[in-house]
Amino acid sequence: MSVRVRFAPSPTGYLHIGGARTCLYNYLFAKKMGGKLILRIEDTDLDRSKKEFEESQINDLKWFGMDYDEGPGKEGSFGPYRQSERLDIYKKHAAELIESGKAFYCFCSDDELEQMREKAHAEGRDPLYEGPWRDFPLDKAKEKIKNGERPVIRFKVPKKDIEFTDLVRGKVNFPHGMVGDFVILRSNGMPTYNFCCVVDDALMNISHVIRGEDHLNNTLRQLMVYEACGFDIPEFAHVSLLVGEDRQKLSKRHGATSVTQYKDQGYLAEALGNYLCLLGWSHPDEKDIFKLDEIKDIFEINRFSKSSALYDIKKLNWVNGQHFRSMDAEDLLQFIEAQKDVSFFGDESSEWKREFVSLHVEKVQTINEFRTFYDNIYSSTLDVGESENEVLSWETTPTIKEFVQTEILKSNEHFMSSVEVSNWMEALKKEHKIKGKNLFMGLRVVLTGCCHGPDLKRLLPLTTRQIIIERLASI
Ligand code: GLU
Repeated sequence: MSVRVRFAPSPTGYLHIGGARTCLYNYLFAKKMGGKLILRIEDTDLDRSKKEFEESQINDLKWFGMDYDEGPGKEGSFGPYRQSERLDIYKKHAAELIESGKAFYCFCSDDELEQMREKAHAEGRDPLYEGPWRDFPLDKAKEKIKNGERPVIRFKVPKKDIEFTDLVRGKVNFPHGMVGDFVILRSNGMPTYNFCCVVDDALMNISHVIRGEDHLNNTLRQLMVYEACGFDIPEFAHVSLLVGEDRQKLSKRHGATSVTQYKDQGYLAEALGNYLCLLGWSHPDEKDIFKLDEIKDIFEINRFSKSSALYDIKKLNWVNGQHFRSMDAEDLLQFIEAQKDVSFFGDESSEWKREFVSLHVEKVQTINEFRTFYDNIYSSTLDVGESENEVLSWETTPTIKEFVQTEILKSNEHFMSSVEVSNWMEALKKEHKIKGKNLFMGLRVVLTGCCHGPDLKRLLPLTTRQIIIERLASI
């Protein structure tokens, strides 16, 4: 059997990181199995679906390097790939279900349905459909339609338990009575998700449906539709939910949840992809850091975890930092310079920028942190904290400050030089007998206002003499 998997987003918003993770899993599984990834746009909600969201979601998938094999703009033999272009197909299959008695026309008004729901509620029952149309003769229903009435089509839910084996969760049993006769085609001719999803998955020869656990209840309805339509049932793998720190399903109130936001903040696609993969899947060698390319050949469905995955921005930042460090300095520089929203470099020379990046890369996890270091270099006043004040209060520190204040004026080179810094250290040791921590910490705090930071002999040559003079005057 050839493997065909699909990612089926609704273009009603930007690509959610949960959706990106689902697509990643489908993509990796297709690659591993030599199969195909199909992109299907589920745009039957005409009011909320927007072309710009479809485009932005496709761009975000490409940003990760996930190229689909069939889908909009890549027509294969199973198109069209937008549900709004397949309405006749759904109508045909709904009509077949009507003819075979597995679906029925329902003429209930919204008010009637609301009354039924309220009654069920008052009697402490689940509000399952209990209108009078399930067994209404078909010829009479057709007459009503001829007379201008516009019914919905409902699926006749069989009164039996439904069971299936999920590749992640094992045997799943749904006792009968969980769902009532649900709508498959609205009165305006638009299909509902649980119906068109099955028709498409079946007609597009989808072999494996890999999606979030939140769709389990939909799978119950979908299994009934597969059976009624006589379609082969694909394999299902329901992956665990992404949750925030409060263990609730990840949503906007937990922070940035769209891929676009991370892209705009300057996260690396490889890092976000790597991190999303780890949320619910584990590497056979327990590796935390990898590129998608490296796991294409080892991706196995049996390494999915059943428990929900905590979305932790601190871990994402750590992964991003690891990927920064594995990059060539020149590539990293190009990446930083290409950032639109979070760029920070001015008109420094390429050499300066390269040195800045390679000096700080060990210490940063995000572009924002690079920016903070950049701003520090240009800061001419020192904003010192508690530990720095302590260093400033050491007996030897004023001597260091006075020494540097005099020495710095002996050159008028625009930038400081590392030789200068080495010479100062030597002189402070020999002539002023200051050494060890007093020398290193004292000099660092006097020059940078900070107890910690990158190698002074590399940091200072990135700074102008004038800025250091101003800093010295500010403490
Ligand atoms: N359009 C559905 C969603 O975005 C697809 C779910 C599925 O994979 O079946 O949730």
